[in-house]
Amino acid sequence: MLYKRSSALFKAAEQVIPGGVNSPVRAFKAVGGTPIFAKSAKGAYVYDEDDNRYIDYINSWGPMLLGHAFQPVVDAVIEKTKQGTSFGMPTEIETKIAELAVSMVPNIDKIRFVNSGTEACMSAVRLARGYTKKDKIIKFAGCYHGHSDAFLIQAGSGAVTFGSPNSPGVTEGTAKDTLLARYNDIDNVKSLIEANPNEISCIILEPVAGNMGCIPPKANFLQELRSLCDANAILLIFDEVMTGFRLAKGGCQELFGVDADIVCFGKVIGGGLPVGAFAAREEIMNHLAPIGNVYQAGTLSGNPLAMAAGLAMLESVNNDAELFQRLEEKTAYLHKGCSRVLTASGITHTINRIGSMISIHFAEGEVVDFESSAKGNNETFKSFFHGMLNEGIYIAPSAFETWFITDALSYKDLDETIAAVAKIAKTL
Ligand code: PMP
Repeated sequence: MLYKRSSALFKAAEQVIPGGVNSPVRAFKAVGGTPIFAKSAKGAYVYDEDDNRYIDYINSWGPMLLGHAFQPVVDAVIEKTKQGTSFGMPTEIETKIAELAVSMVPNIDKIRFVNSGTEACMSAVRLARGYTKKDKIIKFAGCYHGHSDAFLIQAGSGAVTFGSPNSPGVTEGTAKDTLLARYNDIDNVKSLIEANPNEISCIILEPVAGNMGCIPPKANFLQELRSLCDANAILLIFDEVMTGFRLAKGGCQELFGVDADIVCFGKVIGGGLPVGAFAAREEIMNHLAPIGNVYQAGTLSGNPLAMAAGLAMLESVNNDAELFQRLEEKTAYLHKGCSRVLTASGITHTINRIGSMISIHFAEGEVVDFESSAKGNNETFKSFFHGMLNEGIYIAPSAFETWFITDALSYKDLDETIAAVAKIAKTL
């Protein structure tokens, strides 16, 4: 592959944008080399500025569940744009998407739209603190909930990829209110609660982790968290920014049969436009301004273009009875194929998969938490990443990210991907 134009564009970008990127995960810092610059995308493919085509397993880090430039989303945005792009006044479409989201997701009565997953999680924690009148939160090592101060304590995703899971700039005062637990370790959570009686407002987690590679919860982990929260007047926050509308219509509450108190959304809910949201039962949501006194706001929140994209996306997800079955089958097919060819080449690996999230860990044994994920062989991952890129397969440039499977992928694309894995495996 030639990356001539991407290289030139990156050099220019570096002069005026820190690191040449507006979000660190886009840089190839963990794997080396120059990020490729996207020009366009359609369906399962993304095209770069040098006109190389890639089968895309990043999918804008999750939103493109139904493929790039998905026609109903494109049409909805074009139509809306003609009526004006922002009013700072309520619009009918905000209620429409709220009604649909509330009807799809169990256990929520009201939803508030924001502009990103970060805002959703940050606001959810403020709401939990305001509601419970307690300050501390429990988060899990390797989970990422956006770049708000309270979350940059042993965070996953880009924070760990770049070796700064605890960011400078986060005050000690903020850090001391964030307690850190091990994912999938209920005893660890119990001991934190016992050591901080009546001080913990909420436990926030990715009910399926996607920011230390894909790590599903162990059997009963979510149920046990629910019981602990109930026994200690703690709110349970599911950060479903990745999993919401992706693993099931109703997300992980539906998938695992566990109720959360507050649920955060992002990615799929915006159909590729900047949207986040948080939702809960009425008695909790009514603590928000303007009816309650927990303040939260946004000039562009509920923006009509973003709502139009999100509504078209959610309607498509809601109206497709076979979507999640298809996604599961495609992901299982990829899993089986990759596993077969990696094993044939004697490559140490563990593949985690649930629904349309999958990741290959170059690690031995179970990968169930940040520690086991971090044991993966990063040198192998680097060679694998560049090998795949060269074969026209675009996966996230970090071992701490999940792959996102889109419905636009054909079995031919999956076969092409497995063939590429087989070819690269021989060189690892
Ligand atoms: N929560 C989770 C689980 C995420 O994966 C992300 C982003 N990858 C966020 C929150 C933050 O979302 P955003 O990047 O839209 O701020």
